[in-house]
Amino acid sequence: MGERAHDVVVIGAGAPGEVIAGRLGEAGLDVAVVEERLVGGECSFYACMPSKALLRPGELLAEAHRVPGVPAGDGLDVDAVLARRDDVIHGLDDSSMVPWLEERGVTLVRGHGRLDGERRVRVGEDVLVAERAVVVATGSAATIPPVPGLVDARPWTNIEATTAKRAPGRLFVLGGGVVGVEMAQAWSSLGSRVTLAHRVDRLIEREEPFASEQVADALRSGGVDVRLETSVTSVARNGAVRIELDVGETVEADEILVAIGRTPRTADVGLESVGLEPGKHVEVDGSLRVPGRDWLYAVGDVNGRALLTHMGKYQARLAADAILGKDVRLRSDGARSPRVIFTDPQVGAVGLTLAAAQEAGIAARAVDVETSGNAGGSFVGRGAPGTARLVVDEERRIVVGATITGAEVAEALHAATIAVVGEVTLDELWHAVPAFPTRSELWLRLLESYGL
Ligand SMILES: Cc1cc2nc3c(=O)[nH]c(=O)nc-3n(C[C@H](O)[C@H](O)[C@H](O)COP(=O)(O)OP(=O)(O)OC[C@H]3O[C@@H](n4cnc5c(N)ncnc54)[C@H](O)[C@@H]3O)c2cc1C
Repeated sequence: MGERAHDVVVIGAGAPGEVIAGRLGEAGLDVAVVEERLVGGECSFYACMPSKALLRPGELLAEAHRVPGVPAGDGLDVDAVLARRDDVIHGLDDSSMVPWLEERGVTLVRGHGRLDGERRVRVGEDVLVAERAVVVATGSAATIPPVPGLVDARPWTNIEATTAKRAPGRLFVLGGGVVGVEMAQAWSSLGSRVTLAHRVDRLIEREEPFASEQVADALRSGGVDVRLETSVTSVARNGAVRIELDVGETVEADEILVAIGRTPRTADVGLESVGLEPGKHVEVDGSLRVPGRDWLYAVGDVNGRALLTHMGKYQARLAADAILGKDVRLRSDGARSPRVIFTDPQVGAVGLTLAAAQEAGIAARAVDVETSGNAGGSFVGRGAPGTARLVVDEERRIVVGATITGAEVAEALHAATIAVVGEVTLDELWHAVPAFPTRSELWLRLLESYGL
């Protein structure tokens, strides 16, 4: 057993943990990062990257069918798609991620890290003493609800859903949030017969209602059996999985994927040793610091503020600057986080929905146009469903929310993010001229619809 001193100790090397360690290492600090599984975390191996690798071929095939003259076949080469997915996740080997840390002088410590009192992190027999700060970046894991029989039925979580070696014949997806709808469409495009059950009356219910409808329509037309206002009451596996629904029906599947939300990975991180409650999010203030403990920070999913890689990385950049003594403040957070659902049609959104703006007491008005209703739409996403909406604060004449649905709209979202975060006025936006013939002319149509 030994004690080693560092300036900063980071627990967890997911993307936010890597970013904060790398940024502080570049600034000349002595940083150690503790990782018990894979450097790169869920996003690189079991979430963002493999899920997009599974979705992209189906999306491309759908787009090929929309463009006359492209010889698009009927189905995908499933083995090739899965092989490409394996390349994207480096065969679950993180050795290509390690040099990035080494180049920044960061010490990687393999093992399970636990807080052991103020500024101390225990890894097995060793204690890392952090002279300046400890950063908790331990992420989150899939929430498994207490449904009778579910755990014994060995359900899939995002881990199996993104790394499976073959498409199950029948897949039951529990949950119609982002992970549920993306994985339902991905595996359906790869040949699985998919049933998706969602507890409330629309999918991805935090987004605009038209986004929910278009995604549900797309899933259904791709063959997914979408059940709304449906819960699972019990599950049993006897070879196949039998799933009892509260509507009095039983569905049989080969696998059941649980995608109802995320639980912070804090049950065994030693939070109790510094007076915090295990199993809960680590709550932070606007500089990512834990109130009352000026040496303790939390970034990424573990603080529960925005469960997205880019937001965790943003928090990591700010927290690094705070540790370096700068005055920082989270300006983008919660609903201000840009978010993309990579189904076909895609959903890109930033800021408030119309309903959320109204609930927040904003004098809000929405304007809508068809995403592909311009010349650029003749070439991309032709005939695909899609709506672009701006939510305008009528008093301040600024955009407080934007949602764009349609084929391949993810890259269009950043313009909306700049408008929302920068609080650009409509009168300024009027002079930001979109190129012809790009689908970005939807901005012009939106401003015209508003009355400019
Ligand atoms: C299927 C799916 C698809 C997604 N797609 C997207 C997407 O397209 N875009 C997007 O922005 N977000 C996406 N997300 C969300 C994204 O994956 C998370 O927001 C992101 O991974 C959070 O990073 P993190 O570092 O906070 O947590 P994690 O990625 O979970 O990393 C935490 C790391 O800490 C390690 N760790 C935990 N406890 C300890 C300990 N005690 N000691 C040592 N190490 C420890 C873990 O092993 C892990 O490597 C998706 C999520 C899922 C489930």
